[in-house]
Amino acid sequence: MEASKFLLNMNKHIATDDTVFSAQIKPFARILAEHGLDFKRAKTTCLQINTGLVCNQSCAHCHLEAGPFRGESMDLTTARQVIDYASKNRFEIIDITGGAPELNPHIAMLIAGLGRYTPRLMFRSNLSALNNGQNDDLMALLRDNRAVIVASLPSLNQSQTDSQRGNRVFAGSIEALQKLNSLGYGKDGSKLELDLVSNPTGAFLPPSQEQAAKRYRQTLHRKWGVTFNNFYCFANVPLGRFSKWLKKSGNLDSYLEQLAVAFNPCAAGGVMCKSLISVSWDGSLYDCDFNLAAGLPMNRRKTHISDMQGRPLPGTPINFGDHCYACMAGTGFT
Ligand code: SF4
Repeated sequence: MEASKFLLNMNKHIATDDTVFSAQIKPFARILAEHGLDFKRAKTTCLQINTGLVCNQSCAHCHLEAGPFRGESMDLTTARQVIDYASKNRFEIIDITGGAPELNPHIAMLIAGLGRYTPRLMFRSNLSALNNGQNDDLMALLRDNRAVIVASLPSLNQSQTDSQRGNRVFAGSIEALQKLNSLGYGKDGSKLELDLVSNPTGAFLPPSQEQAAKRYRQTLHRKWGVTFNNFYCFANVPLGRFSKWLKKSGNLDSYLEQLAVAFNPCAAGGVMCKSLISVSWDGSLYDCDFNLAAGLPMNRRKTHISDMQGRPLPGTPINFGDHCYACMAGTGFT
């Protein structure tokens, strides 16, 4: 759906191919207006790269519906264009994500190429793709480029993780963390940062990040000797597979209401779209990965990275939708 139609229809039930929002909550545009919040860019400091939708897992909370049977993957030409753009614009942070970025055939070139042009290269991993028996070289490459690894580990419970993500995924994830620790990741003084991310496994908002971090730190160390640096709890965004699951299970309205009740205008200043530009596997630009999933391009028109001159300017309006409630619930998303 075009962005303009999307906005015009925001006070009705809104339907895209993947998403139906509820008439029970106020349109996000209205809540922004009520709080006098403008939704414009500050300085853009982060280039996020979505290498594609191919993934070894099919998680229920995935806003991109990534999975083993997806074919979308960044090709060599686009990967080179991304590196060229990064070389000219020298972002403070470059954030590689997917799908499972490990499964992109050009990932080694992207890591080595992008690592030259930023002081902080981030790599998002579901851990099982990193520990699939073929990626020990990739772990070493990430270490050599001082990449920050942001790893998702939704639960400390083996059966819960395996039922959500697949057989033996939990054991493989723990083994991946142990391997990363043995390379120096997550160890005091190594300057190799290993951060963990947890998403709720149902139609509810995340628990207190502080308490969850304490539990993860204690349990992972006591049971498996694993250490890490930072821990983040993120709310699931009602798009893609998660949105479909919410609808099918009859939880969509109640989940959106939880997000709307938890709306925190103070979180608006910290949302990632204020400082991030997201490039998809086909080179198209978005204000964030969620807008990519929702089909809402940056500046409300398709722009290819090869046509982008410089960084987006401060003050440029950000494209948004009702899914943005997920970024501003409680203390915020990003
Ligand atoms: S989904 Fe979040 S990061 Fe993306 S535009 Fe909305 S508020 Fe910003």
